[in-house]
Amino acid sequence: MKIRWLGTAALEIKTGSSIILMDPWLSRFKNAYPIKPEINKDMIQKADYIFITHGHFDHFADTPYLVKKLGIKVYVSTPAAEVAIENKGLDENLVVKVNSGDSFEMDDFTVKAIKGKHITFDFGTIIRKIFRWSTYKLLVSGKDLISWKKGEVLGWIFNLLKEDNKKVTIFGSLGFSKDLFKEEDYSTDVLIIPVAGRRDAWKNAIKYIEIFSPKLVIPTHFDDSFPPLSDYYMYQIDKIEKILKEKHPDTKLQVLELNKEMEITL
Ligand SMILES: [Zn+2]
Repeated sequence: MKIRWLGTAALEIKTGSSIILMDPWLSRFKNAYPIKPEINKDMIQKADYIFITHGHFDHFADTPYLVKKLGIKVYVSTPAAEVAIENKGLDENLVVKVNSGDSFEMDDFTVKAIKGKHITFDFGTIIRKIFRWSTYKLLVSGKDLISWKKGEVLGWIFNLLKEDNKKVTIFGSLGFSKDLFKEEDYSTDVLIIPVAGRRDAWKNAIKYIEIFSPKLVIPTHFDDSFPPLSDYYMYQIDKIEKILKEKHPDTKLQVLELNKEMEITL
């Protein structure tokens, strides 16, 4: 498996002869950190599938454009799909409406959507961000941030048929509740989780790691891709790494460099 992190929760994954895009929001704001002008919605020339974890703009907003440009299907929750078909020019013929529990068989992989949960923004972050001139400017800038529908929040479990049935589990938001994961065995080889939205998102990251017991954890979304509403959360990644070393030494953590393809071998 080759994987390229494209900022926020956006990933390009290559397995067998398939190219998968996950939450491909590539229109980073100009003042994003790290600055990566080479990441933009025109950078992708080829892909076979798009999967969406939820319909917020920073996961979904470039999808109508990419679906049209690449002529490929997007797998997205029903409510998020309906709003995008109605108002955002998403081609209905290229949408697969998904509910948690659905699974799909492709040539190189099978994939199952499971129920996830959106993280709750912490009060301190909201207060810190909302009463700012720069926030006001962003909200009146004409950038369409709020008319997207979150829809059902999904996790995606990939079973890579050409790679010894290795399992890769991907989330786009990291909310947690005790009744969320009810099956007995969620063990996975690679767990890809966002660390964003709260200053203590690392706590939920540890809970997810304990439930999914991955060999490898790859964090995403900790870059500051849509300032001033988001934050750069590298300190949280350092914290997760430290806890893994102490409590779960068999689980490795890999921080991907933005826009650099990495071969993942387990
Ligand atoms: Zn979201």
